[in-house]
Amino acid sequence: MSTAPIQTQYDAFKQLGLKLDMSRGKPAPEQLDLSSGLMDGLDGYIAQDGTDTRNYGGGVGIAEARALFGELLDVPAAQVVVDSSASLSLMHDVVVYSLLCGLPGHAPWLSSQPVTFLCPVPGYDRHFAICENRGIKMINVPMGEDGPDMDVVEQLVASDASIKGMWCVPKYSNPGGVVYSDQVVRRLAAMKTAAPDFRLMWDDAYRFHHLGEEKTGMPNILDACAEAGNPDRAFVFASSSKVSWAGSGVAALAASPANIAWWTRHAGIRSIGPDKVNQLRHVRLLQDKATVEALMERHRALLKPKFDIVLAQFEEYLGQVPGVSWTKPSGGYFIDLVTPPGVAKRTVALAKEAGIVLTPAGAAFPYGKDPEDSHIRIAPSFPSLDEIRQAAKGIALSLRLAISQ
Ligand code: PMP
Repeated sequence: MSTAPIQTQYDAFKQLGLKLDMSRGKPAPEQLDLSSGLMDGLDGYIAQDGTDTRNYGGGVGIAEARALFGELLDVPAAQVVVDSSASLSLMHDVVVYSLLCGLPGHAPWLSSQPVTFLCPVPGYDRHFAICENRGIKMINVPMGEDGPDMDVVEQLVASDASIKGMWCVPKYSNPGGVVYSDQVVRRLAAMKTAAPDFRLMWDDAYRFHHLGEEKTGMPNILDACAEAGNPDRAFVFASSSKVSWAGSGVAALAASPANIAWWTRHAGIRSIGPDKVNQLRHVRLLQDKATVEALMERHRALLKPKFDIVLAQFEEYLGQVPGVSWTKPSGGYFIDLVTPPGVAKRTVALAKEAGIVLTPAGAAFPYGKDPEDSHIRIAPSFPSLDEIRQAAKGIALSLRLAISQ
C-alpha cells in the first residue's frame, strides 16, 4: 500500500477515469448466460395437465411451476402461487390488497391510522419504498448478528396495534448478509401481536444464493407459525431473479391455505392469468431442487471471487482504519461497509467523483435516513473482476479521504 498522502492517492485514482455503476445488486452477464437455455425455445406449450400455456387463465400458476417452488421452499404445492416476473410486485400487491381490502376476516388496514411496519435496519431500500409510497409508517429495528433485535420487536408488536407488518429477509439479508437464527425465527412465529392481522413479509430472495461451502438452512417459517398457533402470520416470497434472469424470471408466494385463497381472489381482479409460457420454460430449465442447486453452484463460482477481491482490498486499504468495518457474508449479493459516524454520504460523493456510482448512503434505512450516516452498500456482482478490484480500492480511498477531511 502506498505511503503517499491520501489526497494524492485519491487524485491518482480519479485520473484513471473509471466509469462503474455498482448501485444495484444485478447479476453479471456471465451469470445471465448460465440460463441461456431459456432462449432455446419450448418443445411445446402444453402443461402437464393439458393447459395451453399460451392462453388466459391459471391465476395460481401452472401445476409444475407450483410443484417446483413447493420443493424449493419446502411447502406443499397447493400453498404456492407462481405469478409475475419478479417477487417485489407480489410483495407490493400483498401490501396494497391488505391496505384496501383487509386480510381474511379483518378490516382493511387503511380503516385505522396509522398503519405501521417494523423495518430491521440496515435493510432493503425497495421494501421501504413500498411503505413510504403507500403511506405506511416505518419503525427502525436494530439488526444484530443473528437477525432483528427480538426484545425490541416483541415489545413493539405486543403494545402497538397499528403495527401490521414486518419486513424480513431471513437469509443473507440485503445489505448485511445476516442469517436469522432458529431462535429468532421461532420468536417471530410465536410472538404475541396486538394486531390480529399482523403479517411477516418473509422475503426469501437469497435462499439458494450461498457464497460459502456451507449451505445455511433455517426452520420453515410457515411450519413454525402453524406450530405456534399463528398459521396465517407469514407470506413467503421468492423468485428466480438471481437464479435465471433478473426481472424476466418467475416469482412465487407461499402461505397458509387461507392466505392463498385470499391472494387468489384479489389477484384475479388484477389479471386474467400470469405468463405461463415463461413458467413452462423455467420449469424445463430449472426442473427440480437438485438442478437449481447445481446452477447456483455455477453462480457461486462466478460471484465468490468478486466478493473475495472486495474483502481483500478492504483489508489492505481499510484494515487499519479505526471505526471502519465490513460484513463478510456467506451468501447473498451485498457487503455492508460500516464507516465512522457522519462520513458515509461524503464517501459515496467522493466515489462518484472518482467514477464509481454506489447506492446512495442512507438507502438501506426507511426514508433514506441513516441516523448515523455510517452504512454503504457494496454490490460486487455486476462489474468484472478487474473492475471490482479497482472499484473496491477507489471506495476505500474515498472513505479514507472522507474521514481525513
Ligand atoms: N428482495 C431482496 C432482499 C432483494 O435484494 C431483491 C433484489 N435486489 C429483491 C427482493 C427483488 O426480487 P425480485 O427480482 O424477485 O423482485
